[in-house]
Amino acid sequence: MKLLDGKKLSEEIQQELTQRISELKGGGKNIPHLAAVLVGNDGASETYVASKVKACEKIGIGSTLIRKDASVRHEELLSIVKQLNDDPNVSGILVQLPLPKHVDEEKITYAIAPKKDVDGFHPVNVGRMVKGLPCHLPATPYGILLLLEKYQVPTEGKHCVVIGRSDIVGKPMSILMSRNSYPGNCTVTTCHSKTKNLSAICSSADIIVAALGRPEFVTGEMVKEGAVVIDVGITRVPDATKKSGFKLKGDVHFESVSPKSSFITPVPGGVGPMTIAALLTNTMNSSMLDY
Ligand code: NAP
Repeated sequence: MKLLDGKKLSEEIQQELTQRISELKGGGKNIPHLAAVLVGNDGASETYVASKVKACEKIGIGSTLIRKDASVRHEELLSIVKQLNDDPNVSGILVQLPLPKHVDEEKITYAIAPKKDVDGFHPVNVGRMVKGLPCHLPATPYGILLLLEKYQVPTEGKHCVVIGRSDIVGKPMSILMSRNSYPGNCTVTTCHSKTKNLSAICSSADIIVAALGRPEFVTGEMVKEGAVVIDVGITRVPDATKKSGFKLKGDVHFESVSPKSSFITPVPGGVGPMTIAALLTNTMNSSMLDY
């Protein structure tokens, strides 16, 4: 079993980006700038946004954090997004999800200018991804591709089972693993809560991407010998021994799955840090997109 070390690769990517930023600075060029919008004070969202802003600061990308109370009006949020779209100093915009129920999440996400949509959620980016055109790939699937590439994990002709069909992880991951390039060229099965015989489907997988948000759902008996296992899940599980009162659990039961797998991502330290590396890469590359 080989660990797909997302923490290490994310640090390597951040070092490369730091170098590119210092070259831009040296050449008197504009430095990319990420604007993050955080609504309310959900603990997990606070942590995610803080780590993204911190990562920008670390590598020299500019960042602005706009915080709004959970009672923010839909129109106010929309006008913040529009201002950021028009601001030539802002190269990337992310609105941390989920948003409060009274806000139309789709309308807010779709209001972001596609070129600045560094999360890759806008339909223009989704469409371009499907067509294989240059675009912002959704950060988590993009981070997984970078990880597979770095460790030269063979994907061509493999059966890839993606558990989950969310717009931000499962669906794009399925599309990307079936595209005609590397990593890709897989035969993909997308599973969801209505899938029957999930266990049997997983047992036939060469590659499993678990993105369902159910802690330790994938167990050893569901995985065939030598499978590649990518654990996207992050769930906070109460743990009185931790200062925070919780620990993070993935969707994969690491103890029983890792001995059977050829490659596996840990949680934490796998897909999570790669999502940040991918987001930073998207922000860095925003200026190169011509739409
Ligand atoms: P989501 O929007 O809740 O989607 C979950 C998907 O899993 C849905 O498609 C659902 O099916 C499917 N599902 C739920 N229970 C299932 C079951 N018992 N069997 C088969 N499929 C089942 O979640 P998400 O946003 O994609 O996130 C998934 C997990 O990844 C969460 O733990 C999240 O925190 C984590 N995450 C991690 C990162 C990272 O950077 N590491 C980034 C994003 C998300 P239906 O469509 O039928 O409901």
